[in-house]
Amino acid sequence: MAVERTLSIIKPDATRRNLTGAIVARFEEAGLRVVAQRRMRLTPEQAQQFYAVHSERAFFDDLCAFMTSGPVVVQVLEGEDAIAKNREVMGATNPANADEGTIRRDFGESVEANSAHGSDAPETAAEEIAFFFRGIDIVG
Ligand code: GDP
Repeated sequence: MAVERTLSIIKPDATRRNLTGAIVARFEEAGLRVVAQRRMRLTPEQAQQFYAVHSERAFFDDLCAFMTSGPVVVQVLEGEDAIAKNREVMGATNPANADEGTIRRDFGESVEANSAHGSDAPETAAEEIAFFFRGIDIVG
């Protein structure tokens, strides 16, 4: 195990219901530390670029519309094994399939409005952190 950083996004369905603190508490209880955080409204271009890997999927336009429908909170989480741990705490993509006690099971509204994003590998974590926090000094 190593100390890693990963990119987390609290999605618009969660900010709309004022769940930012409740979701951050789940990360902190799991030993992850919020070392950078920014609340913002994604532009359509940012959403399309961020989810470019899904551009051929049938749900791409809906996903981009959802991600720009309200504020998001983008965060860098740091901790031992942070990438896997974050995804464990989030749960499966579809809240209906997510384990009990996970963020998506407890807060997600649908497979699309599933409250949180987390990077899936070291390479994507580095890219996604740079996407939102390039040039910002992150203090761990
Ligand atoms: P993740 O890594 O668990 O977030 O899952 P993916 O990378 O496969 O998908 C990215 C995001 O697209 C998910 O978190 C959902 O918000 C959305 N998504 C995934 N599958 C579907 C789907 O079948 N329909 C819709 N509308 N959205 C989806």
